[in-house]
Amino acid sequence: MSGRILIVDTVATNRIVLKVKMLSAQFSVDACSTRIEAQAIIIANRPDLILINLSDPAEDRHEFCKALRSDHETASIAIIAVGVADTSKARLAALDVGADDVLPRPMNDTLLLARIRSLLRVRSASQELLLRDSTSRALGFEEVAAAFGTAAHVALLSPEGTTATQLTETLKHGLAQPMRRLDPGCVLKAAGVTPVPDLFIIDGTDVDGPKNTLFSLVSDLRSRSETRQSTQLIIVPRDQPELAAMFLDLGADDIVTWGTSAGEITLRCKALIRRKLLHDRLRDTVRNGLHAAITDPLTGLYNRRYVEPHLAQLARQSKNSGLDLAVMMIDIDHFKSINDTYGHAAGDNVLVQLADRLRENLRAIDLVARIGGEEFLVAMPRTTAAQARGAADRLRRLVNCQPFALGEGLPRLGVTVSVGVAVSGRGGIEQRQLNKMCDQADAALYAAKSAGRDQVAMSMSAA
Ligand code: GH3
Ligand code: MG
Ligand code: MG
Repeated sequence: MSGRILIVDTVATNRIVLKVKMLSAQFSVDACSTRIEAQAIIIANRPDLILINLSDPAEDRHEFCKALRSDHETASIAIIAVGVADTSKARLAALDVGADDVLPRPMNDTLLLARIRSLLRVRSASQELLLRDSTSRALGFEEVAAAFGTAAHVALLSPEGTTATQLTETLKHGLAQPMRRLDPGCVLKAAGVTPVPDLFIIDGTDVDGPKNTLFSLVSDLRSRSETRQSTQLIIVPRDQPELAAMFLDLGADDIVTWGTSAGEITLRCKALIRRKLLHDRLRDTVRNGLHAAITDPLTGLYNRRYVEPHLAQLARQSKNSGLDLAVMMIDIDHFKSINDTYGHAAGDNVLVQLADRLRENLRAIDLVARIGGEEFLVAMPRTTAAQARGAADRLRRLVNCQPFALGEGLPRLGVTVSVGVAVSGRGGIEQRQLNKMCDQADAALYAAKSAGRDQVAMSMSAA
């Protein structure tokens, strides 16, 4: 796995030993001893992860970690604190200033590397999401971001027994969320757990129990579509770093050993829940942003941006199947006078109702889009010229047969549309002929307008 690592430690031998380990694991490495040097390297080389010795007598490293976490530029860099005394207080202090994990010396190399891989995986997922989020924002969609602060769900996967009872007791006071206990075997078998937990706390303390079941559980939760975004914290027996490393490589997000203080477990759970909710929010922003990017907010129809690639796809299908593709341009007649007489809001009401009538009266495979103020495009795959004319006329009558509501206190108004139709002709259509075909539908629309409006005109030339 590639990644850039920065080692911050005043003791030269510590730096060298760690650097050798990191280089042999194929990471790019920088190493330095002071905060000033570290800051310069961070700016120049943008490390993904920092291995920092927190027990440095010369500088306040806790303060440095805090500063890294509170700076927007460095907040997402993973931090592993090393050289910390293996006491509950020292570990908690390190996590509290923002370290993702604490590995006291002597470090188990397998666990250290598994930990680094796991943190780098999360970091690259976060960066991908943040990048997509900033693209959505650049496109102007930040307003569609989902509300933050959703209640989280936590599940403890542990067989019924004393461990489960103890863990429930331990976590009950610290976690804001209620915790459900589920049987690991049932979760493996069950098709779905609802509501899907944001955090699974998995009891892996049964040293004599079947390990394979637990390994399957961790990788199964990570690969199932419903639970793959959930976070996992595994509780492992003391002095089994190889087992902890195995869980991390299978996809666990965090590991604590049995006997870890309630305060530390709670802190780690809270960090996982916070990250999960943040990722959910970013995914939502992107999804909503994408939706907003291709739809027209007034009518909910696809917009012009969506039409081009979709038409290209329909053209490919039509070429492959040898079946006709029909395109219609629909334009409201004398729409300006509706706005002028009854106001812009009345005009908007007409647009919304017209969109509804079009949407409800076409097949699911047809594309309906609003491509201009009062202009709509309909693309109909597998449609001959005769069928397209029939459909266009049906839509035209659907508009003029029933007046439109203009709004409170305003009369209902009869509205008409003109429609121009072009059809690909036998043998389908090449993508490069698409523009020509749309131009032909436009020309036909113009002809329908000139001929008196409220009518359908077919393009005379084949595409
Ligand atoms: P024609 O029969 O030749 O199509 O005449 P028309 O009045 O429909 O066409 P014209 O292009 O002259 O006017 C279109 C009007 O549509 C002008 C514009 O102000 C209005 N319009 C464009 N977008 C919107 C919108 O989102 N809401 C409303 N209410 N009006 C819009
Ligand atoms: Mg018009
Ligand atoms: Mg127009």
